[in-house]
Amino acid sequence: MRIWVNGGLRDADDARLSVLDHGLTVGDGIFETVRTSEGRPFALTRHLDRLTRSARGLGLPDPDLDEVRRAAAAVIDANPVPLGRLRITYTGGLAPLGSDRGTGGPSLVVALDGVNRRPDTTAVITVPWTRNERGALVGLKTTSYAENVVALARARERGASEALFPNTADRLCEGTGSNVFVVLDGRIHTPPVASGCLAGITRALAVEWTGAEETDLSMDVLADADEVFLTSTLRDIQAVHRVDDRELSPEPGPVTAKAMRIFDERAGNDLDP
Ligand code: PLP
Repeated sequence: MRIWVNGGLRDADDARLSVLDHGLTVGDGIFETVRTSEGRPFALTRHLDRLTRSARGLGLPDPDLDEVRRAAAAVIDANPVPLGRLRITYTGGLAPLGSDRGTGGPSLVVALDGVNRRPDTTAVITVPWTRNERGALVGLKTTSYAENVVALARARERGASEALFPNTADRLCEGTGSNVFVVLDGRIHTPPVASGCLAGITRALAVEWTGAEETDLSMDVLADADEVFLTSTLRDIQAVHRVDDRELSPEPGPVTAKAMRIFDERAGNDLDP
């Protein structure tokens, strides 16, 4: 595997960052995951916009987007895979212990690995921990993902692939790495960004392309919804067949199936929507 680290491509074994990188010592970093199909990234411009927004939110210097595009192209070229996960990580950089900020300039790492196409349906659990809709990091895609790691491990223990969080007001928020949608009386709803969820790029496209409504939802909606689905860069739209102990249809329901078709068609026709 060839990885871009601070200005050039390196073999994975020689790709090095300082052990005092602020991203490692305190989680002062941001990232984007971009899907690639046959060497072409999907929605790269939206991902780079969010990377810049996250950098500003965290007080990091704006990333040089020309360099990020060059790095992404080089990594995609060097690692040919049919379906890929391109990971762009941008951190505070080298910082003496105890310092508030990196002093050596930010670090840019771009890597890519091959992934399998996700199954059409999946199981999810709900977790008792909360997203903080009033937190300083809300809406930023930071590398401080340890809470998601814990929640995802809980999901895996229960044979599920995703864990859904309420926010501090006990309203439905999002998954560890996905946004959530429900179908009620034939209409599609998803929690608003004010719930504390990440402004997912797939979420925004699904709202635009399916006419889904942004609605403040209680956690109980998961017990009543006719259909539930997730959106994320690597899942696109993925139907949910189980929420905790509640079994839903084993196949994507009619509204979800239609949303999946619309998404595949629109995304197939426009790689940078
Ligand atoms: N919510 C969280 C916490 C995420 O980490 C992600 C993606 O990684 C999403 C939602 C979905 O966002 P996107 O569709 O941009 O991948």
